[in-house]
Amino acid sequence: MKIITIEEHYADKRIVDESAKYGGSSNMAELPEKMRDAYNSMRFTGDNLTDVDTVRFDFMRKQNVDIQVLSYTAPVPDTVPPQEAVRICKEANDILADIVRKHPDRFAAFATLPMAAPAEAAKELERCVKDLHFVGALITGQWQGKFYDDPMFFPIFEKAAELDVPISWHPEFPNAKIQTHYYFSDNYSLAVGMQFATAGFGWHLDVGLHITRMVLSGIFDKLPNLKFIAGHWGETIPAMLDRMDQIMRPQTTGLKKKISDYFHENIWYTPSGILSKDQLEYMVKVFGAEHIIWALDYPYIPFETCSADFLLNSDLTEGEKELIAHINAEKLLHLN
Ligand code: CA
Repeated sequence: MKIITIEEHYADKRIVDESAKYGGSSNMAELPEKMRDAYNSMRFTGDNLTDVDTVRFDFMRKQNVDIQVLSYTAPVPDTVPPQEAVRICKEANDILADIVRKHPDRFAAFATLPMAAPAEAAKELERCVKDLHFVGALITGQWQGKFYDDPMFFPIFEKAAELDVPISWHPEFPNAKIQTHYYFSDNYSLAVGMQFATAGFGWHLDVGLHITRMVLSGIFDKLPNLKFIAGHWGETIPAMLDRMDQIMRPQTTGLKKKISDYFHENIWYTPSGILSKDQLEYMVKVFGAEHIIWALDYPYIPFETCSADFLLNSDLTEGEKELIAHINAEKLLHLN
């Protein structure tokens, strides 16, 4: 069975250094120095991320992955200041385009957009899709505390809807005040707090909240063709859908539909390398196999948990497996 995975990261040392220099991961700047240093020491720019011909192809062969949709990893230059972001994002996108051009049957790419300069970001998305044949964009975090439901970012989403390409939402460091207040404690170590605030819990909640803010802002009523991708099995949202419908009803929200309707119609979900049988079955039951796309979160998936036949050995029907393994991605990303 053909397998396409869509949250597969790449890094270029120059782009990482440039992004860090101009404050990529904007929420990190306000963290106490000790935490910031600890986070920075976790930055990874190893061969897993940078080498294509040996390390990445070896992983793809072992995991039976036919096509990876590439995207940058934190610090992504999308949250650096606008005067630098436009230039760095263009460079970053050109680098990915070169890789796709060399191996068009093995890779596709998501654009990195200078979110702080929305008009330029919309233009860059158009360039990436029309000239470089990218298949969408991956966005992270916030811009200086502003969530992307702020009207200043509307042109970016309007362009994505017009081009009919999805926006993939990726976690970044939550707001520094949120991190210190909610996730750090004297009763466990700094290392535990850092994991709790980020990949262990906090940044998933952050993305779930962010996408829900987008829904509540009415963006899908304004742009019914807009499509999002949420990784990590929906970034905590699925557990709250019924409750949101029960409490936040259209007579209060002013939205045309129930909240869960947007999550069923406008959003696609991936495992991001969380290979859990229960989660897979739950997501197929809640959203339908038509809204699930495969993703391994290369190279952050713990390799010992990565199983090439996880999806193929699941209890889903052959038809459901085909949808999740490649058909949904081909359709959503216009890969044919
Ligand atoms: Ca990731």
